[in-house]
Amino acid sequence: MNGLMMHYPLTIDRILARAERNFPEQEIVSRLADGSIHRYTYGEFYTRTLKLMQALRKLGVKPGDRVATFAWNSYRHMELYFAVPALGAVLHTLNIRLFPEQLVYIVNHAEDALIFCDKSLMKPLADLEPQFKTVKQFIVMDDLSPDQGLKLKGITDYESLIAAENAVAEFPAFDENTAAGMCYTSGTTGEPKGVLYSHRSVFLHAMGISMIDSLAVSARDVILPVVPMIHVMSWGIPFAACLTGAKPVYPGNQLIGKPIADLIEQEKVTLAAGVPTIWNVLLQHLKKEKTDISSIRAMVVGGSAAPPAMIEAYQKEHGVQILHAWGMTETSPLGTVANLKRHMSSWSAEDQLKQRSKQGAFVPLVEARIVDDAGNPLAWDGKNSGELQVKGPWIAASYYKPENKEANAAFTADGWFGTGDVARVDEHGFMEITDRKKDLIKTRGEWLSSVEMENAAMAFPDVLEAAVVGRPDDVRGEAAVLFLTPKPEKKDTLDLKALHAFLSEKFAHWQVPKLTDMYVIEAIPKTSVGKFDKKVLRKRL
Ligand code: ADP
Repeated sequence: MNGLMMHYPLTIDRILARAERNFPEQEIVSRLADGSIHRYTYGEFYTRTLKLMQALRKLGVKPGDRVATFAWNSYRHMELYFAVPALGAVLHTLNIRLFPEQLVYIVNHAEDALIFCDKSLMKPLADLEPQFKTVKQFIVMDDLSPDQGLKLKGITDYESLIAAENAVAEFPAFDENTAAGMCYTSGTTGEPKGVLYSHRSVFLHAMGISMIDSLAVSARDVILPVVPMIHVMSWGIPFAACLTGAKPVYPGNQLIGKPIADLIEQEKVTLAAGVPTIWNVLLQHLKKEKTDISSIRAMVVGGSAAPPAMIEAYQKEHGVQILHAWGMTETSPLGTVANLKRHMSSWSAEDQLKQRSKQGAFVPLVEARIVDDAGNPLAWDGKNSGELQVKGPWIAASYYKPENKEANAAFTADGWFGTGDVARVDEHGFMEITDRKKDLIKTRGEWLSSVEMENAAMAFPDVLEAAVVGRPDDVRGEAAVLFLTPKPEKKDTLDLKALHAFLSEKFAHWQVPKLTDMYVIEAIPKTSVGKFDKKVLRKRL
């Protein structure tokens, strides 16, 4: 039909070209492994990315090929984020904290052709090299000599590779539904499963996270993604930054406490994003060492539930707003954000905190429902809880080459993705995760949310982190077991009896872990992306 809009494929090269044209002077900042700061502009980033594209062409990278990265958050990683997809190839970010056998499985499953690796991370890869079946070459990202003395075939140094090239702006045209990126789920609940992001999904997601009621990324922001670039594309932040002209600050390999606090102060970060553990540790650090973090307009917390006690502490002690968000590898990741609605501004501080502790409202283009065991949709009344199912343009439609049918069972015949999360949605459309299906504890025939118990325990003043798993129990069916880490200064004085009494005010007595089911441990084991690793805790039991 005549008179319609232009055909304009939503491909990542358009985001790149926009940056060069509209804000070439804007800065991109990275902290390097030696602690020094690297700065350059989007203009320089553009030129280097074009050179990298040429180099990739010469290395024989063809459309559809998988090019892997094994690296910290940095400007070179960002160059790969754009160069690889702009060629029509697929950027496969490898999780640097995976166990060797998982890494071998994933590289072989994805059939990666090249791996770009940070020098500081080379050793574990070098050891696995004989087991990688399809990798033709490693490229090392370091400005030092490429001679590592490691037995790897054909090591090439990133800087020499691109120095030899000219910056040619040649972008092949392809369909917006072409694969652009790839990420495997971190496997909290089973074998890693591959998810392929398309150009269109990445583009729309970048716009999605930039909307005001989502993370509101803009040209006025300085964004610190502590969330790794090897985890769900750093929650899409590099793409949203490049689309809007925000200044990214990449933290490199030091993610705990002081280095993060210093970066926030020095670069005047306005928006920071990471898992709860990172922000909890930062909070403890700020108690010891005063740092000005008042530039922050929002601290995005996702990946695991943000404990309400932490949300409150940031608000009260630092005037910093925590923005609770929910998502998954399969959902690109953004699904919900807990931004208060207009009418909530008149609520009491306590009610506002309660609302902001929920995972939040579904962002535009993400449709959702909760269903009972038979798959029937449940009302959004804040009481019913059931499996959360979602659909939308940045939600996976299937897994990449699933090894077994079971993996794709999460995708329903009528077009929904079953998240495996158990949630309720209130009358305001705010979703609250009550648990993961596999983490629910059935005690005395009733479901107990391990997340609610953990949040309650973390609200006890002496507790730093708490994780709850179930154990078989003759009387209760399953009983809750609580693993605890005290705050450093309370190491010797944590009073378990007082904690038990504190929990008994909130839960029925059979739900509260017995004193003999409370274990004070040095640190709660974490998964590769910093979530409580309940698989390990169950094994410990
Ligand atoms: P994995 O499944 O390996 O943990 P993901 O990083 O994709 O890998 O994890 C997604 C899961 O993380 C969600 O299904 C949910 O259980 C949990 N999650 C993410 N954000 C939140 C949040 N804000 N609150 C509670 N749980 C969350």
